[in-house]
Amino acid sequence: MNSRQDRVWTRVMVTGLPLFLILGVAVIFATRTTLSEENSADKIAQDLSPAQESLKPVVKPEKEWKSLLTEEQFHVTRKKGTERAFTGRYWDNKRNGIYQCICCGLPLFDSTTKFKSGTGWPSFWEPFQQQHVLLEEDRSLFFSVRTEVKCRRCDAHLGHVFEDGPEPTGLRYCINSAALDFKFRRKKSDRRSGKQGSP
Ligand SMILES: [Zn+2]
Repeated sequence: MNSRQDRVWTRVMVTGLPLFLILGVAVIFATRTTLSEENSADKIAQDLSPAQESLKPVVKPEKEWKSLLTEEQFHVTRKKGTERAFTGRYWDNKRNGIYQCICCGLPLFDSTTKFKSGTGWPSFWEPFQQQHVLLEEDRSLFFSVRTEVKCRRCDAHLGHVFEDGPEPTGLRYCINSAALDFKFRRKKSDRRSGKQGSP
């Protein structure tokens, strides 16, 4: 190898090798993340044990919720906040799975009841189980009475329900992404057969 070839080879090694390594690490990391997400989601979706669905109240002091949640999750769920439309993680999520409470993990909504509402918030026409959510009159806006939707188990504020949803219920559960934790499900659910549609 003459010195010119030597220099070219050195340059290839210096510039190419780190790039190759970075790409390699990125690919491995991406694959591992996807696999672990799918595996854990599969597990959760396949065996929703009675313990997971138990409605025994989950009560924690505010300080603890603060340490467990992001600032936005805390603001939405524990302080009845609302995330800005079209900014959340799930308004446009079309994957098959279950949306759990970000605070306590209780299954709240199934992707088969999610529909495109155009509002910028995840919208569902039915909860996962009616008894998993709590509905309360909300008069916080002086010009209207709304129905607040809360997690039955930990009292987290989730959003509101309106009567302008699609069939079969005619309801629109307008929920903050920040209140939800989506768990991917590999198989199509057979416990629901909801149609997609606009309100
Ligand atoms: Zn909860």
